[in-house]
Amino acid sequence: MQLTDTHGRNINYLRLSITDRCNMRCFYCMPKEGIVSKGHDSILSYEELLLIAETAVNMGIEKIRITGGEPLVRSGIIAFLGKLSAIPGLRHLALTTNGLLLAEMASDLYQAGVQRLNVSLDSLDPRTFSEITRGGDLKRVLGGLEAAEQAGFPPPKINCVIMRGVNDGEILDFADRTLSHGNSVRFIEYMPAVKEEGWQRYSIPGEEILQRIAGRYTLEQLDKGPFAGPSRDFRIPGARGSIGIITAVSGHFCSECNRIRVTSTGQAKGCLFSDAKTDLVPWLRPPDREGLAEVLRFIVSAKPERHDISQDGYTHKNFTMSQVGG
Ligand code: SAM
Ligand code: SF4
Repeated sequence: MQLTDTHGRNINYLRLSITDRCNMRCFYCMPKEGIVSKGHDSILSYEELLLIAETAVNMGIEKIRITGGEPLVRSGIIAFLGKLSAIPGLRHLALTTNGLLLAEMASDLYQAGVQRLNVSLDSLDPRTFSEITRGGDLKRVLGGLEAAEQAGFPPPKINCVIMRGVNDGEILDFADRTLSHGNSVRFIEYMPAVKEEGWQRYSIPGEEILQRIAGRYTLEQLDKGPFAGPSRDFRIPGARGSIGIITAVSGHFCSECNRIRVTSTGQAKGCLFSDAKTDLVPWLRPPDREGLAEVLRFIVSAKPERHDISQDGYTHKNFTMSQVGG
């Protein structure tokens, strides 16, 4: 079954956030003091998250990505992932992590049926990394990347938010990693999630990132896979890993959006940057599969054609990336 929205986009991808807690404090994602974490009662139980996942897969969702907050800090995640990966019809189960706990957990994640890992890593320099994450330990993340491969995963994809004056001097170092370590690297434009005056100073359009790489390497454009979504992918000839660009702010994005999101408190969103959200809790407590399917169909049908963050006069929407799941 195919899920198509009113703008003709095939919606096959669900991003499911399972916690709003995190063991890092990246400055572009969370305020220094962290966020006031939702109480136990408002965070969906694993049974409720599974009900959403099963319903979505029955309707045509083929790929689920588990995210957060930091998903690996939620206890019981391995058993949950085991149940998720067993859902008939789910073709692709992926997880995005900051990598801090990956060295300890990679093997269990692999055994539970996770197929791909994305690790967020914005700097290969310990000092810059610690500044961006407000205290994160780069060695642990690099150890996690290695452990993932030892556990049987393909080299994890690295998500790298590029910010002018912060880490843009490392664009070529990350591109080199696709050759030296086989990781695919996806450069993400900085998005104005945390309310900060003058956020535009960090912005580097994806095109500029590409041009800087093309100054050193030839880049071959790659065909899009079935779950590719809005990323444009390239390869340096001979590299095992690819280079992707997500131009969330500067454009070429919304027309290929293939996803919906559900937060850890059960708020479903058709667009990361829209205020519109639908509370799924009334269909989870008590469980109502048919009602839930209907409301998910509504969220797909109400998906806006495009976001407005690149328009003049954009005002910050009230959300924290760690609560929505990126
Ligand atoms: N904690 C996990 C991690 O960091 O991978 C998963 C959740 S995190 C919110 C998901 C993704 O959102 C990360 O790759 C992160 O870099 C990205 N992200 C968070 N805030 C962002 C921002 N302001 N602009 C662009 N990407 C952002
Ligand atoms: Fe935590 Fe991920 Fe946000 Fe960083 S990007 S603060 S690791 S949720």
